[in-house]
Formats: sequence, C-alpha cells, structure tokens
Amino acid sequence: MATRSHSADGAARQAGRSSRKPARRKLRCSFCGRHEEVVSKLLTGPRVTICDRCVGHCNDILEAEGTAPFADLRELSDAEILASLKSTRAAAESLQALLCERVDELRRREVSWASIGGALDISRQAAWERFS
Ligand SMILES: [Zn+2]
Repeated sequence: MATRSHSADGAARQAGRSSRKPARRKLRCSFCGRHEEVVSKLLTGPRVTICDRCVGHCNDILEAEGTAPFADLRELSDAEILASLKSTRAAAESLQALLCERVDELRRREVSWASIGGALDISRQAAWERFS
C-alpha cells in the first residue's frame, strides 16, 4: 500500500520534470468517494484507495472491537498480524457496507449506473456487477 498526499506526490513530481505532463487520473477514496484534493491523505492499493477519514473510521471500528488500530505492519510480529486479520476483515466489511448503503441510496434516487461508475472511476458495467 502506498500513501499519496496532494502536497508530496511522487508521480506528480516526476511528471513535473518532463516538458509534457501526462494527464493523471484524479483519485478518489473508494469508500466515501471524496476526491484526493479534499483529503489530507489517500492510501492506494491494488484497485482500491482509502482516505484518512475512512482509515479513522476503520480504527474506530477496530478499537470498539478491542483491536489495536492500524499500525506500521513492519513493527508487528507474525502473531500480531494473524491476530488482527479477523477484525481487519470486519472493518473492511463495515466500510464495504457503508459504500453499498450509499450506492443503494443513489439507486433509490434513480441515479444511473454510469454516474455511479464514473464517481468510482469504474465502468457502468463494473459498477452494476459490483453493487446490483
Ligand atoms: Zn474515504
């Protein structure tokens, strides 16, 4: 997982060195949809991003379940990481439920799959397959 903040972004700095700046797709939090320009941190993983506020939400869930919040994984032992898997999955499922709730509300309002997919930077078809 990599961190990206709009003030210190490696890709943006690298792009700044060349004369032609390739258009980089703006990132959004996969869970709340907030844009990278309005969050202070955006963590990126394979096909998913999460903002600082949603990580805070995860940490609240983990703490409520008596599990230590997210820490630097390199500082944790194998046993500590193994012990955290269940509650981490629970936190991820809670965030997934939050996302589904928002998509359900949009669908109730008859917002198109194309619009929902666009907001999530995925295709209409991918949005439909993921949430319907
Ligand atoms: Zn978020």
